[in-house]
Amino acid sequence: MWLRGGSPGARRAPLRGRASGCIVRRVRVPPLLLALVSALLACGCGASDGVGSAARPRSALVVVSPHPDDESIFGAATIHRLASDPAREVRAIYVSAGDQSSTPGDCNGIPEAEKTERIVALREDETRAAWRILAPDREVPIAFERGPDQGLVASTKLVDGLRQDTLTAAGEAALAAAVADATDLPASVSEAWILTAARYDGHPDHRTAYRAARAAAETLASERGAAVHLWSFIVHDEFFLTFVPACCGGDFFWPADGATHDYERLVDTASRPRPPRWDAAEPGDDPPAIRRDALTQHVSQLVGNPALCMPVYIPGFYDRWLAKSEEPFYVEEL
Ligand SMILES: [Zn+2]
Repeated sequence: MWLRGGSPGARRAPLRGRASGCIVRRVRVPPLLLALVSALLACGCGASDGVGSAARPRSALVVVSPHPDDESIFGAATIHRLASDPAREVRAIYVSAGDQSSTPGDCNGIPEAEKTERIVALREDETRAAWRILAPDREVPIAFERGPDQGLVASTKLVDGLRQDTLTAAGEAALAAAVADATDLPASVSEAWILTAARYDGHPDHRTAYRAARAAAETLASERGAAVHLWSFIVHDEFFLTFVPACCGGDFFWPADGATHDYERLVDTASRPRPPRWDAAEPGDDPPAIRRDALTQHVSQLVGNPALCMPVYIPGFYDRWLAKSEEPFYVEEL
């Protein structure tokens, strides 16, 4: 069940909701008018530190999420913290629509193509709701590239423990669109945090998101000399079914039950070495609450959606993520 009706690039939703800056002109004003202007500035349109800086932001947070919901899984509290600075530009990019999250075929009399469109619309609405938790005081531009769910990678092979993927044409298009949107930042930005899934993720769509994030980081660093902090983490660990590598059944090895991680339980085989230990763990003010609030906006993933034949594929998956109290990341500095 792939997205139909054109290439992902042609179906890209434009960035929406860009915050408009407030223009402050240099004029001579009498004291009374000056007082009035000061009052207006206090209302939020002017050169106060936060809003004025936002018009020419020096830093940016760019979240490159494989699917709707991954942003909250790998970094809800961290995103919330970084987005709370009003002087920072914030963007979100979704590489795939997550359109395969239903039982294949027609559903309750709904033709499959229409069902897919409705699932995409539903998951994008859930994503917007999650961002109202993640960045409650701002309208974050969100780019949905709508690459085909589990259709981004044509083939893969392990090289020294890392997967090397060959993308499909649709995967290449989604990757290029994601890189373009991730690097389309105001010229004033000289420092950026890019959060995404890890290169070690077992899900091919997630590794494609990492590739987009990495390419965007390299572009920002090389073309504008920006300091880029690329933070990533695993959502799906890879596991083996009688020696056949598999993915996406869930993070069976990460995290362990409970609030904290258990690195030793990550899968480790001769053919698929355990990924390296992460570099940093980000606490938030109240990470479990923020992650719970953001994740639970993705209702179709949490409890399913019988009307669109969307089951809960991985019962317990969210429970473990909701229980975590830290957000670890692999850190790359460019
Ligand atoms: Zn995902």
